Amino acid sequence: MNKWVYMFKEADNNKNLFGGKGANLAEMTKLDLPIPQGFIVTTEACTEYYKNEKTMSDEVVNQIKSSLAELEKISGKKFGDTENPLLVSVRSGARVSMPGMMDTVLNLGLTDVAVEGLAKKTGNERFAYDSYRRFIQMFSDVVMEIPKHSFEKLIDELKKEKNVEFDTQLDANDLKELVKRFKALYQKELNSEFPQDPETQLLEAVKAVFRSWMNPRAIVYRRMNDFPSDWGTAVNVQMMVFGNMGDTSGTGVAFTRNPSTGEAGIYGEYLINAQGEDVVAGIRTPNPITQLEQDMPEVFKQFMDISNQLEKHYRDMQDMEFTVENGKLYFLQTRNGKRTADAALRIAVELVKEGMITEKEAVLRVEPKQLDQLLHPMFDPKALKEAKPIGKALPASPGAATGKVYFTAEDAKNAADRGEQVILTRLETSPEDIEGMAAARGILTVRGGMTSHAAVVARGMGTCCVSGCGEIKINEEEKTFTLDGKTFKEGDYISLDGSTGNIYGEQIKTVDPEITGNFEIFMKWADGYRTLKVRTNADTPHDAQNGVHFGAEGIGLCRTEHMFFEEDRILKMRKMIVAKEEEERVKALNDLLPMQKGDFVGIYEAMQERPVTVRLLDPPLHEFLPHTEEDIKHLANEMSISFEELNSTIEGLHEFNPMMGHRGCRLSVSYPEIAKMQSTAIIQAALQVKKEKGYNIIPEIMIPLVGDKKEFQYVSNIVKKAADEEIAKSGQELKYLVGTMIEVPRAAIVADKIAEEAEFFSFGTNDLTQMTFGFSRDDAGKFLEDYYEKGIYESDPFARLDQEGVGELVKMAVEKGRATRPNIKLGICGEHGGDPSTVEFCYKVGLDYVSCSPFRVPIARLAAAQAAILYAK
Ligand code: ADP
Ligand code: MG
Ligand code: MG
Repeated sequence: MNKWVYMFKEADNNKNLFGGKGANLAEMTKLDLPIPQGFIVTTEACTEYYKNEKTMSDEVVNQIKSSLAELEKISGKKFGDTENPLLVSVRSGARVSMPGMMDTVLNLGLTDVAVEGLAKKTGNERFAYDSYRRFIQMFSDVVMEIPKHSFEKLIDELKKEKNVEFDTQLDANDLKELVKRFKALYQKELNSEFPQDPETQLLEAVKAVFRSWMNPRAIVYRRMNDFPSDWGTAVNVQMMVFGNMGDTSGTGVAFTRNPSTGEAGIYGEYLINAQGEDVVAGIRTPNPITQLEQDMPEVFKQFMDISNQLEKHYRDMQDMEFTVENGKLYFLQTRNGKRTADAALRIAVELVKEGMITEKEAVLRVEPKQLDQLLHPMFDPKALKEAKPIGKALPASPGAATGKVYFTAEDAKNAADRGEQVILTRLETSPEDIEGMAAARGILTVRGGMTSHAAVVARGMGTCCVSGCGEIKINEEEKTFTLDGKTFKEGDYISLDGSTGNIYGEQIKTVDPEITGNFEIFMKWADGYRTLKVRTNADTPHDAQNGVHFGAEGIGLCRTEHMFFEEDRILKMRKMIVAKEEEERVKALNDLLPMQKGDFVGIYEAMQERPVTVRLLDPPLHEFLPHTEEDIKHLANEMSISFEELNSTIEGLHEFNPMMGHRGCRLSVSYPEIAKMQSTAIIQAALQVKKEKGYNIIPEIMIPLVGDKKEFQYVSNIVKKAADEEIAKSGQELKYLVGTMIEVPRAAIVADKIAEEAEFFSFGTNDLTQMTFGFSRDDAGKFLEDYYEKGIYESDPFARLDQEGVGELVKMAVEKGRATRPNIKLGICGEHGGDPSTVEFCYKVGLDYVSCSPFRVPIARLAAAQAAILYAK
C-alpha cells in the first residue's frame, strides 16, 4: 500500500511530496508553533489522479477518511455535528508557491444541521450563517464552477431590499435568508441539492484543488516561470480558525522585511473581525501591522516572537498568514517571501552582514532573471499606479518607455535627432528599420512573437518592446492607430511596459537604473564563484561599452551586417550585391573597406584587450536590396543601368526559403572577395589599435553556417591569406584565430572533422534550434501557442534551449571538437546565452564562455556563479 495522506505531525520538510505550504505547516508543527492541525494529500496523489483520468482511487479516499477521523480526535470536534462541528479549509499547495493561481475552499463541513451546531457552540448565530453563506459561495465557485458574480448579485439584491450599504449590516436573519437564496441558485444551476454530507463536500473539494493545477492561469504561470506540469499540487486539509468572531478576532498577512525595498522590520496588514481573503480582497482598508501593538498587545508580542523565530529558522525573509480567534493567535502559513529585485539584493546582503547566511548562500538567494528589473529604465511606481492600461501584448523586451508615437523608422530617427523621446509603432519591423529602432525609447508592433525581428533586436539593444498587439488597428499610410476606442496620431504620447506588455495611452514618468550599492557588492560575491566566462553580443562600440559596463569579459558575437544598413553605406553595399563582374564588386567592396575598418577600431578600443569574435557577413543578400520602385530607380541611376535590368537582377536573387538559402559561408564560397575584404578590415583595425594604443588584440574571425570541413577550409584559406598579407605588410606581429559557428546540425555531427581546421566553436543556437526542429523562428510564434495549450511543449525553444534535442547536438559537438583539438575554445552566442537555465547547461557541458546581449550580462554572470556553486565538479 502506498501512503498518500499524512497528518501534519507525520509529514516533513519534503516540498516535492507535501508542497511548499504543507511542508512548512509540518515544520511549524515540529517547532511547536500554534498551527491549526490538519493533514496533507500529497502531490503524488495529484499526479495519480491525472494518470487515472481524473478519478481518485479508493485507497486515497480511504486514507483521507481515516485522517479525517484522526483530525476529529485531535480537535475534539466532529464533522457535520449538531453540537460542535469540525470545519476545515481545503488549500492548494504546489512545490513552489504560485500565489493566487490555484484555489482554496474555507469553512468546509457546514450543512443545514452543522450551521446550527456552530451557532449554538459559539453563541453567535450571525457568525455561523455568515460562514455558511461564504462556504456555499466558495464551494459553488471552486468545485462546481458556478460563477462567483451570480452570488454577488444575490447579495446586492438583498442589501437593496434591506436598505443597507455593507455586508456587515446584514443581521443573522438576513444571512439565513441569503443562505436560502444561495441554495436555490445552486439547485437551479446544477439541478441537485447543495451537498449535505460533509465527506462528499471534502472529497469533491480535494478533487477540485487537483483540477485547479490545470486551470489556464496556472498553466501560463508555469510556462512563464519554467515549472513542469507533472509536479502536481498537494492539498492541505486544515481545521478552521475564525478571525470573524468579533472584535477580539482578526486576520492578517505580514513579511519579516519589506518585500519591495528589503528594509528590515515587520511589514504587513490585518483586519479586525474578518476571514481569509478579506485582507487581500481590498473590500475594507486594513490596518498596518504595527497597530496590532495597541489593539492586542499580548498577541502582538507573541506574533513578533514567532515571526523572528521563523525568519531565523528558515534564514530568509518570511511571508506569513495569521489569524486571531477570540484573542488566541494562530499561524496559517509561512514561506520565503516573494520580493522585488531591489529587495532581494538588500536582503541577501544584509542577511550576510547579520551573520545569518554565508556569501555563498547569498549568491544562491537571488533569481538571475529577476535582475532584469534593475537593468532597464523603470516607471516611477507612483505614476504607474495612477495610469490605466489601454491594451496588452507580449512583453518582448523589458524596460519602460514613454514617448511620442512615430510610424516609420525614418520619422522616428528624425524626431529623436530633434531630441524627442520616441516610440516606434509598426505593423512589424524589418532589418531596414534598425536605425529607427535604435533611436526609439520603445517599440510597439502589431504582429510578431517573442522572437520576432522586433523582439530579438530590441532585447539586443536593451530597448523596451511590446509586440504582437493584434487589437491595434494601424494605418501606416495615414500614420494613425486605434486602440481601446482611441485614435493616436503621429506625435501623441503613449507608454509601454516591456516587462508586463501593458500599453498606456499617456505619458508616464520614468527613472534610470543604477548599478551601485548592494547590487555591486552582490555581483562581486557572485563573480568570486564563477568559472564560466561571460561575453556580450555587440555590433557597435556603444553596445560594446555597455557590455563592459555590465561586466562582459569579451565580445562573443559581433555581427557585421548591421554595419551596412547605415545610410551612406547601403548604396555601396547594394552596388556590390548586384554587380555583374568581379571587378565591379571588388571596387564596391574597396569603398566599404575603410568604413568597416573604422567600425572595428571603435569596437577594439572599447574592449581594450578583451577578446572579440567577429562574424563574417551572414544574412541572405536580398535583405540589403531596395524594395520600393523609387529606391530601385535611384540605385539604377547611380549604377547607370536600366531600371528593368536592375529589377530582373533583384528578382533573380529572390529565394523561396532564404533562411536555408544563399547565406552565411555560402556567400563567401560564391564571392570570396567579401570574406577577403572583411578579414582585411578586421586585421588592419587590430594592427592600428595595437600600434596606437598598445592593446594586444587577438581577433577571432568567425565563419558562419559551416556544415562541412572542406567548406570551412575554403573560406578559412581566404581569411588567412588576407590576414597574413596584412600582417606581413605592417611589419608588426599579430595573433588571430579562425573558427566557426556550429549552427547547422551537420556541423555538430562532423565537429571532430571541422575541429581539425577550426580553432574555436561558437554555438549559434538560434539557427541550430530552427534547423533541428525544422521550423523558422519568425513563423513559429503562430503555432507554438497551440503546442503549449495542448501540452506538447512547455516553453519556447527559442527562449530556453531544448536540452534534450538541440542540447544533445551541442554536447556531441563539444566532445567531438575536444577529441580532435583539446584546447579548442568553446562558447555560445545565441539568444539563449542570457537564459539562466541555458547558462547552467553550458556550464555542465563544459563551455568556456557564454555570450549574450549587454543587458543580460549580469544575469548570465549570476547564473554562471550559481551553476558553479551547485554543480562544481
Ligand atoms: P493562497 O495560497 O492563495 O494564499 P490559502 O490556502 O493560503 O490560499 O488560503 C486563502 C486564505 O484563507 C488565506 O488568507 C488563509 O490564511 C485563509 N485560510 C486558509 N486556511 C484557513 C484555516 N484553516 N483557518 C482560517 N483561515 C484559513
Ligand atoms: Mg496563502
Ligand atoms: Mg545564424
